[in-house]
Amino acid sequence: MNIELLTLFPEQFPGPLSAGVTGRGLAAGRVTLRVHNLRDYTHDRHRQVDDVPYGGGAGMVLKPEPIFEAVDQVRRHNPGPVILMEPWGEPLSQALAAELAAEPGLVIVCGRYEGVDDRVRLGLEAREISIGEYVLSGAELPAMILIDAVARLIPGVLGDPGSLDQDSFTADFGGYPQFTRPAEFRGMKVPEVLLSGDHRRIREWRRLAARRRAGQMERKT
Ligand code: SAH
Repeated sequence: MNIELLTLFPEQFPGPLSAGVTGRGLAAGRVTLRVHNLRDYTHDRHRQVDDVPYGGGAGMVLKPEPIFEAVDQVRRHNPGPVILMEPWGEPLSQALAAELAAEPGLVIVCGRYEGVDDRVRLGLEAREISIGEYVLSGAELPAMILIDAVARLIPGVLGDPGSLDQDSFTADFGGYPQFTRPAEFRGMKVPEVLLSGDHRRIREWRRLAARRRAGQMERKT
């Protein structure tokens, strides 16, 4: 999976993605993340990437030219879909992450300020994806969340692929409560069944516990 990321803040990457599972995926080359500074695709002295909005209003809007130029260039070697992180986009879900993980690559455009000139969406047929109904100051954090959700689904990234099957949203009975040692802590005991070694009973307990938890979190898939 080759990911191209277009941003005004390249220094933020790989950032938290360099730790743990995603960090190993990057180090092993299962996922490559190439970060492109949008200012490198400008041609004026001030390396201008934004301008005032037509029609007035506060703030600045990202200009289309540097984004189109950067996308044209990365598309020569990356056939993946263009993704625009936007608060009104399609909500990121486990199903969407799985769909994107099957792509050969991704081209992620990070908005900032008041947003991105709408011709980017139109002209590049960008898919708009949201990480939730709230407004952040830029798409770098949302992009990291998308990359994390996708990268751990790429074969070879998770140390133990069994972890995927027991994730919430994936399996029928993923997302059950987990316990580790000690068996008793501050008066709270690990459910007896988990210590029993009876795998049939453990499975059944986990299935029911996951179902109860699913009720609490209103599953999306
Ligand atoms: N004026 C816009 C907000 C711009 S925020 C509005 O009213 O909605 C600046 C950039 O941050 C956006 O262009 C988008 O790329 C990113 N962003 C902010 N919130 C986001 C979210 N919930 N999901 C994905 N991207 C988001």
